[in-house]
Amino acid sequence: MKFFFPDSQDLVDPSFDFDTEKRNDVRIRQRDDLYAHEVFKKSPYDGMLVSMAIVNGVNGSTGRYTLGQQRRFMVRGAREFLRLPKHMDLMGDCGEFTYVKEPEPPVTVEQVASFYEQGRFDFGASVDHIILEYNADWDRNVPGIRGVPEDCKRRQELTIELARSFQKLCRKNKFRFQPIGIAQGWSPKSYAKAVSALQKMGYQYIALGGLVPLKSSEILEVLESVSPKLKQSTRLHLFGVTRLDHVNEFSRRGVVSFDSTSPLTQAFKEDRDNYYGRRRKYSAIRVPQVDINLKLKNRILSGEVEQSEAFRLERECLNALRQFDRRRFPRRDLIKLLNEYQQLFGGKRNYSVEYEALLKERPWKECRCAVCQELGIDVVIFRGAERNRRRGFHNVYVTYNRLKRIRSKIT
Ligand SMILES: [Zn+2]
Repeated sequence: MKFFFPDSQDLVDPSFDFDTEKRNDVRIRQRDDLYAHEVFKKSPYDGMLVSMAIVNGVNGSTGRYTLGQQRRFMVRGAREFLRLPKHMDLMGDCGEFTYVKEPEPPVTVEQVASFYEQGRFDFGASVDHIILEYNADWDRNVPGIRGVPEDCKRRQELTIELARSFQKLCRKNKFRFQPIGIAQGWSPKSYAKAVSALQKMGYQYIALGGLVPLKSSEILEVLESVSPKLKQSTRLHLFGVTRLDHVNEFSRRGVVSFDSTSPLTQAFKEDRDNYYGRRRKYSAIRVPQVDINLKLKNRILSGEVEQSEAFRLERECLNALRQFDRRRFPRRDLIKLLNEYQQLFGGKRNYSVEYEALLKERPWKECRCAVCQELGIDVVIFRGAERNRRRGFHNVYVTYNRLKRIRSKIT
């Protein structure tokens, strides 16, 4: 089971100084910055997934790449741009989430295929249109239940037709990447139908899309219906799914790969569980920056909070955390201080219980990854992109190591 990490231009700046919070002035973004596969001795994934929408932007959105980066990406190829080692896999897709609300995909099969070919990808997924609804009852003709919405059927037909033209185009032009057919569905049977159609066209690598919002039991239900239809040579990819608890079951049903950003984004986009420990997940410690936090700025402007007091508490929190890491500051006082600072921001949520667990167990001391070794307690501080992203990298590392342990047991 391979894990692909989606590129969203998440890099860290190695010149960033965690004490002064300053960086090298002459640093060039992306060129001097590091990807997760450059931070750790061994890459924490088997390959990367790059969306055309992230690189070029689609449908009026600008993507994540500057014009110069886009050019370099296309001229040198994705692998060289991402500085991805040779043994790692490179998969492309079109970034269907960016146009999910449109009646039809705003990209053509030709544009997408030439993006893969020029970018020298190993695998390229066909153009698809996500189906947003899922209901297993639609397979059972339950009386009183409305039928399958027309829009679902339309999106599936469209996705199948696009896969057909994509396959034809790839064959005609003898493109070097291996095409992946995308299956969209609204129920177990409809996914099975789409997969069968793609196999008939000659696809040997098929990705199931639209699974992100589904419960694990529903994903298994879909695979249960798909796997009896699979030819021996057909392999499955799951888009946007990290359910490590079910890797064995997925693998038995033909799944060979998946991708997900959630270990990264959970570090800074969620309210809780931001740091992956060995036994559990922990909430990171919020120490927002006084000078960029809007809520606090407004409170300072309105006179509710004194600016100097805010700066003082911010400094004190950071110093206390460092001292705590050296066992020179008591846990209880630290939590009190953190809460006091939190109140300046008008934060309603109280993290005392979560902080207590994190500070008591000190999971960053146990982790042998390069991020935790270098940062110490800073890895669990929720503050600014350099800390938050590194914590995300750590989560990716933990996820991958867990996957490797599971993998070694699959027979
Ligand atoms: Zn770590």
